[in-house]
Amino acid sequence: MVLPGATLGVLGGGQLGRMFVLAASAIGYRVFVLDPDPSSPAGEIAHQHLQADYDDGDALDRLASECSVITTEFENVPAGALEQLQDCCRVCPGANAVGIAQSRVREKQYVQSLGISCTPFQPVTSEQDIGQAFENMGPDLILKTARFGYDGRGQAVVRDSRQAAQAWQDLNKVECILEQRIDLQTEISCVLARSSMGVTDFFPVAENVHRNGILFTSTVPAGVDEDIQRAACSHAQSIADALDYCGVLALEFFLDQHGKLFFNEMAPRTHNSGHYTIDACYTSQFEQQVRVVCGLPLGSSRAHSAVTMVNLLGDLWEPCEPSWDQIMQDNRVKLHLYGKKQARPGRKMGHFCVLGAPGEETRPRAEQLYSRLHSAQV
Ligand code: ATP
Ligand code: MG
Repeated sequence: MVLPGATLGVLGGGQLGRMFVLAASAIGYRVFVLDPDPSSPAGEIAHQHLQADYDDGDALDRLASECSVITTEFENVPAGALEQLQDCCRVCPGANAVGIAQSRVREKQYVQSLGISCTPFQPVTSEQDIGQAFENMGPDLILKTARFGYDGRGQAVVRDSRQAAQAWQDLNKVECILEQRIDLQTEISCVLARSSMGVTDFFPVAENVHRNGILFTSTVPAGVDEDIQRAACSHAQSIADALDYCGVLALEFFLDQHGKLFFNEMAPRTHNSGHYTIDACYTSQFEQQVRVVCGLPLGSSRAHSAVTMVNLLGDLWEPCEPSWDQIMQDNRVKLHLYGKKQARPGRKMGHFCVLGAPGEETRPRAEQLYSRLHSAQV
């Protein structure tokens, strides 16, 4: 067990790292953050910000020598860096699981090999692959980069081979997948923590609404059948067990109009759709990450409130900072801002959670509050 007072390392200094630093500091840990960005949201509040690239050997050595355990908030750390760290320090999750989750091709093939249904897809490394994908999967496909995609970036809806070939060219012909577009009923996600002993704990399943490929709201309880939620958690458990996963793992699923569940993707870390846990659960996903990587007993992941989380993107800062009093007039709203200095369209600047009594519907109130924030600008 790594007890409070020890130093923890985090690879990545974004908002997930920042909320990890807040949770770890509250329990008395010191946190070192590795991130090349001089103004990274987590680096700014960490005990130490190592401002260096993820493959900087000296910075990695320093991290490994100063920290009792190292975790990640960013999955695109080079595999070699994790392996170097793993040789001399405890790293959770390990290089193997992170390596699989880094690639849409590897993660989908891995999940399929466990007998779990994924969105139909085909890897794309040549023009022939594109023609074949349309023959096999029909005309309604999405081209996605195999790596480094987030918030819908590196994706294009394509309706025929010519369009897909052009879109692939626009992506500089990097490795991609073509994936069948699902007629979505809704989207859900599971966030779990699994210890090195295999003890697993699930946060309540969240129901997610995306706008323009970016998460807009997450609501708990999810408005989908309990059987479906159980099936998603059971798939998540199988995947975490197969990976012998240690840490917090997030998994996204699509539910189509016929009630069929598809695995979409996973993240070997805390997740935007789990931010609601800070305000609505006995233990947040960030505290759970601290506990699980330190080998402490897991906290209760039960929700004590109904909740809707709403993301705040940089677009809202146009033409000026939103008027926060518009949402804070509701005394069951919790606002979180990530301290990012520059607001850009599509950039995640913060979020707010709207709490309600168990069983209360919170999404309409959340949407109403959000629209007030928006209209306060115009
Ligand atoms: P994030 O960083 O938010 O997880 P991402 O860039 O990794 O996003 P995906 O999760 O693959 O991308 O897609 C983002 C959103 O786009 C999905 O949540 C969904 O709303 C929509 N989408 C993606 N793939 C499909 C699909 N095959 N069928 C229908 N909708 C899709
Ligand atoms: Mg996603």
